Amino acid sequence: MTQTPWNHHIGGAFVAPAGGQHLSEIDPRTGEASFRIARGDASDIDRAVQSAAAAVEGWRSVKALDRARVLQKIAVAIRASADELARIEQVETGKPLPQARVDIEIAAQYFEFYGGLAPAIEGETIDIGSGKLCYTLKEPYGVIGVITPWNAPINQAARAAAPALAAGNAVVVKPSEFTSVSSLRLAEIAVACGLPAGALNVVTGTGLEAGAALVDHPLVAKIAFTGSLRAGREIGIKAAGRILPVTLELGGKSPDIVFADADLEAAARGAARGFTVNAGQACIAGTRILVDRSVRDRFVALLKAEVEKLKVGAGDDCQVGPIITAPQFAKVGEYLGIAREEGAQVVTGGKVKDAKGYFVEPTVLAGLPEDSRVVREEIFGPVCAVLDFENEADAIRMANDTNYGLAAGLWTQNLSRAHRVAARLQAGQVYVNEYPSGGVETPFGGYKQSGIGREKGREALAHYVQLKTVIVTL
Ligand code: NAD
Repeated sequence: MTQTPWNHHIGGAFVAPAGGQHLSEIDPRTGEASFRIARGDASDIDRAVQSAAAAVEGWRSVKALDRARVLQKIAVAIRASADELARIEQVETGKPLPQARVDIEIAAQYFEFYGGLAPAIEGETIDIGSGKLCYTLKEPYGVIGVITPWNAPINQAARAAAPALAAGNAVVVKPSEFTSVSSLRLAEIAVACGLPAGALNVVTGTGLEAGAALVDHPLVAKIAFTGSLRAGREIGIKAAGRILPVTLELGGKSPDIVFADADLEAAARGAARGFTVNAGQACIAGTRILVDRSVRDRFVALLKAEVEKLKVGAGDDCQVGPIITAPQFAKVGEYLGIAREEGAQVVTGGKVKDAKGYFVEPTVLAGLPEDSRVVREEIFGPVCAVLDFENEADAIRMANDTNYGLAAGLWTQNLSRAHRVAARLQAGQVYVNEYPSGGVETPFGGYKQSGIGREKGREALAHYVQLKTVIVTL
């Protein structure tokens, strides 16, 4: 932890904010101030974007195999710093250390995976008749603006930065103002691994100041945004104004369907994990648990038992950490109140913790109508609603009855049913008999209002290259 306070990382070095101001992050485990980060504004963004623009030509002309080597070196260096990075993210996000370590490992894997793919970014030739030669080139966009949320900070910065860099772009990351330090360390590590100065810059600050300035900057050629539907919509509207390509990775209200023929114990374990992962602050959280009516009571009893095994707190032996900020903590508390007003039966949990820090009991609600707010709106806390269904068609209808479409889970031992239902769910990822699942290799993104485009997997590279067709008359 080399900087107090932490400044922007621009052009390969730490740079003080033009406005001279800093913001405090808050440790959600205690509610006390932790790191200080620079409060970036439009002039800091301009400096970073200019630095990225200056780096693009050099970086894109590095042979792909050599770009790959740099990215893979970054993966190794992230692993070598895993302990320090996990401790930073523990302070920033409040999540138990073992969970923070998983996020750091995933960040390393993004650099490993996209480093491996860099030399495989290739065009093709197209037969358009004799006397002509036609081929395609996959070219980087130039400067990519990456805006990330707070729930998995370095993981999400790496998820966009690694494929963007692999394709020869330069990047400016604007991390969440609540969790910026691990992204700053990522930039520092990347430069130490030989990434040219300016190829990866990090400007910290709020969404309305630094984030908006990044979207508005005329030299930014593409935005990769991960965050709320509200901010995603604002960014999408702005981007449309200047035909700026965007990928939007937004929220969810994902269904997790338990059929009567499922291994109910495994389903209860998985469903409990599915809605409490990252204290429910996961875009893919399975917060609508749909259960076949014939096994409902048995399943709810199993789910209750699994949820009550989860330890809430900040220790390494805890599974459910705190909510990120005081306002988000208050919002989760409000939803628990709304659930009671809507007539919910509280199967377990239902309260926020009195202790210091923003902890919420994992909460299972039942008996709510499908149109209740708690069933329809993203809460972003460890709260799920159990609803029951009559038959398979009913389950599919209920699962798809949402404006979101990020993920869906289903539990069954019937192979035909698994594939039949998976094909009909309106979601970018479907998990069968595990929740959540997948890795850096598995394309990820939303149907409907959960987003535009795909991150992860080979698929993501398509968002960081522009296709040019060259037609030569010989
Ligand atoms: P948020 O939208 O408030 O903030 C996300 C980022 O956008 C932050 O860096 C913020 O400073 C910035 N920002 C906010 N308003 C902006 C604006 N007008 N212009 C430019 N930048 C702006 O989201 P959050 O509260 O940090 O994250 C929670 C949300 O993110 C949830 O809805 C969750 O589902 C979603 N999320 C989605 C994914 C995914 O991959 N689909 C992953 C994680 C989180």
